[in-house]
Amino acid sequence: MKQKVAIVGGGPSALMLAATLDFSKFEVGVYEQNKTLGRKFLVAGDGGFNLTHGSDIELMKQQYHPSGFLDKALETFSNNDLRNWLRSLSIDTFVGSSNRVYPIKGIKPIQVLNTILQKLEENKVNVRTQMQWNGWMENNDLLFNETEVVKADKVIFALGGASWSITGSKGTWLPVFQKKGIATLPFQASNCAFKVDWQSEFIDKYNGFPIKNISLTLRSQSVKGELVITKFGLEGNAIYALSRVIQNELKQHGQATVYLDLKPMFTLEQVKEKLKKKESKNTTETLKMGLNLSAMTVQLLKQTLNKEDFTHLDTLAEKIKSLPISLLQAAPIEEAISTTGGIAIEEVDENFQLKKMPNHYVIGEMLDWDAPTGGYLLQACMCMGVVLGKWLNETN
Ligand SMILES: Cc1cc2nc3c(=O)[nH]c(=O)nc-3n(C[C@H](O)[C@H](O)[C@H](O)COP(=O)(O)OP(=O)(O)OC[C@H]3O[C@@H](n4cnc5c(N)ncnc54)[C@H](O)[C@@H]3O)c2cc1C
Repeated sequence: MKQKVAIVGGGPSALMLAATLDFSKFEVGVYEQNKTLGRKFLVAGDGGFNLTHGSDIELMKQQYHPSGFLDKALETFSNNDLRNWLRSLSIDTFVGSSNRVYPIKGIKPIQVLNTILQKLEENKVNVRTQMQWNGWMENNDLLFNETEVVKADKVIFALGGASWSITGSKGTWLPVFQKKGIATLPFQASNCAFKVDWQSEFIDKYNGFPIKNISLTLRSQSVKGELVITKFGLEGNAIYALSRVIQNELKQHGQATVYLDLKPMFTLEQVKEKLKKKESKNTTETLKMGLNLSAMTVQLLKQTLNKEDFTHLDTLAEKIKSLPISLLQAAPIEEAISTTGGIAIEEVDENFQLKKMPNHYVIGEMLDWDAPTGGYLLQACMCMGVVLGKWLNETN
């Protein structure tokens, strides 16, 4: 007789698990509270839609925190495996700028989702929508919509994080797991914007302006990328990637200072040389002629430095290479691309099984891990689904 598998939640981690499970062995049900599956997947598609990242697998592993937690899963189902799997379903991908992997031009996010759902249909997966999981009955059966009880041999939770609640990822399940004695951590915004107290003349003029080809440093961690100036503060891939360390700093000190390198391609000596070559009485002119700095970046330097530092070329060069920007708080969780917190990693074994509840598993963003946006998040969620699916196929 086939074993009954209940997958609770209908995001990418759940879909990949359902697509991997051997339907000759398992009778698989996906239980999703929304009317449709994969709403956050489609939201991701509205932006860049980085399905994975194109870098070498060893470099890829280093992007995940806590370090090592995804190594085995990535080895079992790498970024290339994901691309090959998508190709087998006629979803071709390409590696774009910054090594991010996108579906090829003309393939819309809804097409990617529908293709995966088609695969579920072929695998005879029973998709049940408008099924909100409320918790466990006394005998550990699952309770949905306060009235419907579902029995399963294996239960997999893939309920997502706690941002963009409109997509269904609300994190309301946290106390249900706590009551079972499973350790959880409070949700925290990751891959999010951070507040900066800009001067009003500056932000009125430069709201929405990008600062490209920069690097941003906090303590020993540096990230190359770009930033966008917003009324709230700063967003963009460079600051998103530092979210975890910035959040730690904010927790400890109430504020965090990041250091912006406006010219990471030049050494400090080269910056000094270039400024001196074009030195004029007007520092703004020197900056534009010597380093091709935009009016916005010149203004950023002006609003951050006092007059003495701004007009002293050596000090100015140092600040161009390391401009302190004070961050006051993170954007609300609701607006974050991803969240950390949720089920503590120590609560699951290497196959994502809850150590305290055999035959119950947790995958995807509901576990407490972190990675930068740009394909690393979906890769993690999807490979957790595949790895668990393969393991269940092999061991049952
Ligand atoms: C704006 C934005 C852009 C993004 N862009 C990218 C990107 O380009 N690349 C990238 O790698 N990642 C991106 N992400 C992140 C990525 O979308 C998520 O990390 C990923 O969707 C998480 O997958 P998941 O399966 O863990 O959970 P989710 O996709 O959050 O799915 C969880 C599902 O569980 C359901 N659920 C929750 N509670 C219950 C319940 N009690 N009962 C039943 N069902 C329930 C929810 O309705 C939801 O459908 C982006 C995210 C956002 C918000």
